[in-house]
Amino acid sequence: MKIRDLFDRKPFVFSYELFPPKPDSPIGKLYATLEAIRGLKPDYISITYNAGGAGGNRTLELASVIKNTYGIEPLAHLTAIQSTEASVDAFLAECKKSNIQNVLALRGDRNPSIVPQNVFRYASDLAAYIKANSDLNIVGAGYPEGHFESPDLQTDIENLRKKIDAGVTHINTQLFFDNEDFLRYRDLCRAKGIDVPVQAGIMPIVKKAQIERTVVLTGAKVPAPLAKIFQRFGDDPMALMDAGIAYATQQIVALRAEGVDGVHLYIMNNDFVARRIYENIGSLI
Ligand code: FAD
Repeated sequence: MKIRDLFDRKPFVFSYELFPPKPDSPIGKLYATLEAIRGLKPDYISITYNAGGAGGNRTLELASVIKNTYGIEPLAHLTAIQSTEASVDAFLAECKKSNIQNVLALRGDRNPSIVPQNVFRYASDLAAYIKANSDLNIVGAGYPEGHFESPDLQTDIENLRKKIDAGVTHINTQLFFDNEDFLRYRDLCRAKGIDVPVQAGIMPIVKKAQIERTVVLTGAKVPAPLAKIFQRFGDDPMALMDAGIAYATQQIVALRAEGVDGVHLYIMNNDFVARRIYENIGSLI
């Protein structure tokens, strides 16, 4: 199934992101997680590609298990920075073989452990190549607070337009902690004539180690109430878990009430967190 069609059929699309196990770890390590998530009515599951230089070649292996063993629609990430035409051709052939119909075309983060291929410069170049050479549904990334390399939000949204023109049919956003940032972004997209679905990325911050890593990596702004949560509960693992889940729940409830197209939940492979969130909002989705 092409994920774009889901947005025509449902008022609210709800999905989860997973990352593949390290190269020396069995895929089966994730079976329990997948089994748990299957019960949480995912519309689809996205699978990262070498995010943070963590080993990317297992994206399609995991996507195939999700599709063919668990019967859930996968969205396989792929990065331009690490791709050549030959490697994308091989990726597309593998998708066809495993009946994978959705790809998230990304530029990819620059990382000292990743040698850039310098073939596709932007995500839009990769999207255009995939569109010309396959029947895959193509998804793109969006940044409610602007991408860090962009001089301003307006310019970033103009560049987003190029991704849509290249064949991207819906946008998954970077995580954010202030819903106002997302709603402003959605409105700016609409004002620029970008009318594809924009799905909001939400990450529950439930561990101390996540706080700095996530904020540094994404540059997401931390609103005062969340900063206070980190200050007060940062050293109390159980309290931080409860508070992080409650904060993300509040964000999702408010976004659902605003009538947004959907939420993509970054769960860092933690099905316990996914279940707790689902218990809070199941009837809303
Ligand atoms: P692009 O759309 O190419 O944009 C990159 C920058 O270039 C932006 O500043 C944009 O404004 C600018 N730009 C774009 N097109 C043009 C143009 N034609 N002319 C001039 N400027 C232009 N990284 C991974 O390595 N693996 C993953 O699995 C992964 N998953 C992600 C999932 C989501 C939902 C998101 C939001 C990000 C993910 N990332 C992942 C991180 C992503 O690779 C980085 O944020 C990267 O820096 C930008 O990727 P992009 O696809 O948005 O790039």
